[in-house]
Amino acid sequence: MASDLKGKVAVVTGASKGIGAAVARQLARAGASVVVNYASSREGAVRVVQAIEKEGGRAVAVGANLAKPEEVAHLFDETRKAYGRVDILVNNAGIYDFAPLEGITPEHFHKHFDLNVLGLILATKHAAALFGPEGGSVINISSVAGTHPMSNASVYSATKAAVDAITKALAQELGGRKIRVNSINPGPVVTEGTSSFSEGEMFAEFAKKTPLGRIGQPDDIARAVLFLAGDDSGWITGEVIHAAGGLRG
Ligand code: NAP
Repeated sequence: MASDLKGKVAVVTGASKGIGAAVARQLARAGASVVVNYASSREGAVRVVQAIEKEGGRAVAVGANLAKPEEVAHLFDETRKAYGRVDILVNNAGIYDFAPLEGITPEHFHKHFDLNVLGLILATKHAAALFGPEGGSVINISSVAGTHPMSNASVYSATKAAVDAITKALAQELGGRKIRVNSINPGPVVTEGTSSFSEGEMFAEFAKKTPLGRIGQPDDIARAVLFLAGDDSGWITGEVIHAAGGLRG
């Protein structure tokens, strides 16, 4: 096992499916107690908790829409009640609705920024208040779109560029408290969220352009998160790490 997370508590936002569910399972396998956050898919979150428990791990499902500040606070109240502390925060919850310039509205802008950026900042603020004197690890799930913005995705790409900037700023701000902050930037990954187009031409094109010759799977990302969660990455902070099979945009 790359990391031993026994005795640690991890909060994974948006963990009812997709990348977040794979991250929750990997962290639990390494010994962490995991808070499995969801917004609407309670059933999915309960399935993730049950899968973790079946493998001998500990997890609880907590519903909270992270685009709403009061619900971010609720997630961490429930975390404190369940486990009393936080050591690892994986800011994974995020949305990606693509739109050309003509399709961008204030609603489209705020829907993306309220969750992908403000929700991530507020979750980090609450988690940092629950980290102990030994510090902790914050892992932000960004995107290759943050460093190589995509056509028809200017707002989404902007949210992920903002996430990378936040990673670098908070790594400096929180380093004195031994809190590490890093971004993992996936390329395309087959998840529930991409299921409507992952069989299509766009993903086929991405696979062709990817040096490792395929599209990512949730566990490709979860293994990179596992590395950043544990002591093996103890000297790494403020980094933006692509997990994309070599793909850049
Ligand atoms: P997904 O399959 O659509 O799953 C999204 C997860 O986020 C679900 O658990 C969902 O919960 C949760 N969520 C959505 N809105 C939420 C909210 N307001 N509050 C709390 N949780 C919320 O997504 P994914 O493809 O795994 O993507 C996960 C992250 O990776 C995102 O940040 C995305 O930008 C990033 N990423 C994905 C790809 C890709 O190709 N898949 C590539 C690069 C980066 P409910 O189901 O309960 O609503």
